[in-house]
Amino acid sequence: MKFELITLPYATDALEPVISKETVEFHHGKHLRAYVDNLNKLIQGTPFEDADLETIVRDSDGAIFNNAGQTLNHNLYFLSLSPDGGGRPTGALAKAIDDKWGSFENFKEEFTKAGTSLFGSGWAWLAKDPNGQLVITQEPNGSNPVAHGMTPILGFDVWEHAYYLDYQNRRPDHLNALWNIIDWEEVGKRY
Ligand code: MN
Repeated sequence: MKFELITLPYATDALEPVISKETVEFHHGKHLRAYVDNLNKLIQGTPFEDADLETIVRDSDGAIFNNAGQTLNHNLYFLSLSPDGGGRPTGALAKAIDDKWGSFENFKEEFTKAGTSLFGSGWAWLAKDPNGQLVITQEPNGSNPVAHGMTPILGFDVWEHAYYLDYQNRRPDHLNALWNIIDWEEVGKRY
């Protein structure tokens, strides 16, 4: 198999109480695994067989795009989380956020709003555009900023499978809690 399910750098119960062990086990072990398995099957015998994940997301459509996008989305998402996370960004990313939104608090508010107001399933992303400018995007379903020529930095998953076991319909509560487990050191490397 070309693509492998990523190994989480923390125990499945390590993100509690923000994300339960049960949610991590379903989300990583079932949902992400299915995207990776589907992608591996779908690319067989296509021009994407030897392509890297970002290239597939950029250049494909249909089922290959959906499964490649969700594989990339979840790889970045799970590696952005840490039981030792929280706090705020530092260095160049912190400065770029302040320059664009005035303060980290304003940025968090705008980002959470993007996730809360996205209708149906999808993602809120902080991304860097080709001019190096930070932007917040709303990506439907399995899309990723890579599909628009941008660099993904931080993504919040607003599919119900990401929070329904723990928060039911309270998506804003889940998104607000996520800030407590963001690994800004890891996220900052993507800027
Ligand atoms: Mn998900």
